[in-house]
Amino acid sequence: MNHLPNFSDSLKQLIASPSISSTQPSWDQGNNDVIQLLATWFEQIGFEITIQNVPETRNKFNLLAKLGSGTGGLLLAGHSDTVPFDENRWQSDPHIVVDKKDRFYGLGTCDMKGFFAFILQACKNLSANQLKKPLYILATADEETTMAGARFFAQQQLIKPDVAIIGEPTSLVPVIMHKGHMSHRIKVKGQSGHSSKPSLGINAIEIMYQVIGCLIDLKDKLALNFVNNSFDVTAPTLNLGAIQGGDNANRICGHCQLDIDMRALPGMTDAELINLLSESLKPLAEKYPNRISFDELHPSSPSFEQKQNSELVSLAEEISGHSCCAVNYATEAPYIQQLGCQTIVLGPGSINQAHQPDEFLAHSEISKTEEILAKMIQTYCL
Ligand SMILES: [Zn+2]
Repeated sequence: MNHLPNFSDSLKQLIASPSISSTQPSWDQGNNDVIQLLATWFEQIGFEITIQNVPETRNKFNLLAKLGSGTGGLLLAGHSDTVPFDENRWQSDPHIVVDKKDRFYGLGTCDMKGFFAFILQACKNLSANQLKKPLYILATADEETTMAGARFFAQQQLIKPDVAIIGEPTSLVPVIMHKGHMSHRIKVKGQSGHSSKPSLGINAIEIMYQVIGCLIDLKDKLALNFVNNSFDVTAPTLNLGAIQGGDNANRICGHCQLDIDMRALPGMTDAELINLLSESLKPLAEKYPNRISFDELHPSSPSFEQKQNSELVSLAEEISGHSCCAVNYATEAPYIQQLGCQTIVLGPGSINQAHQPDEFLAHSEISKTEEILAKMIQTYCL
């Protein structure tokens, strides 16, 4: 006796349980309703459920569901949250699934609560004693802001699957690479004073001018020394994003700050890039002791690369009918990979619809997604 919803009913319920993540407290919501729905459904079909309260979040949760026992196996992973929405630009209520023009419209249909609706159908007829290796489902918290859920899950090292598939909307193209992302604030401390007496002050803007010179040299050096042709933009990038300093034309500027963003190529660690930044500023830091410093603005997210010559990539290419590729957006893949598994990003829906009004999941992707999930479960668990 079970009351498991069918695909479209489970999709409706997931979308009707808002789980918006935002750095703005007025938008930020918990994800407990989504986690409880998933826990109820997967428990009903025999999965063991673990729910983690994720530290450094506003009371949000990760869910891990496990069927079968032993080592290795398959992890199907995704995030339980969505981005905020722009109400006036949606044709319908973002939390109510509208099925029209062969599409399911709703916030999170493609990015990416819809993936869990597919997983549920793929798992409903499985039983633990059929499985040779375990099947895990992971739903994380706060992917859209800090990736705190995936970061915490990786630290815990609770499981060690053979392979992991993250069902972000890739239009069912296997993604094996993306850049990392980090942002820093560089601060220059000067000494203010009357503009008529330059020798009595230290002008922070003038020092920042030299800092910018070093950063532009670093940018050129990155472009020369690091190349990966899998990306549209083949080099690591460094962007000067925002600058603030001083208060008045007749005062020597006492403080200036500059926010920058850097995107590492796969194979490059965050530490390596930060080191290059630090090295490039070193001559100036020596020239102006204790006046130049930099700090992280947000937690960084690492770059990701799954080696192309792996069994998982070959299989994913074969079933999906698409060659693997690199993308420009960041995902939880580098954290999931820290579990020690082959990891790819592969899921229904297009990134062009993610984070947009009238987000949708096309009916045309349903059968292919079902086929991919069935084949992956069969290969790695049965
Ligand atoms: Zn996503």
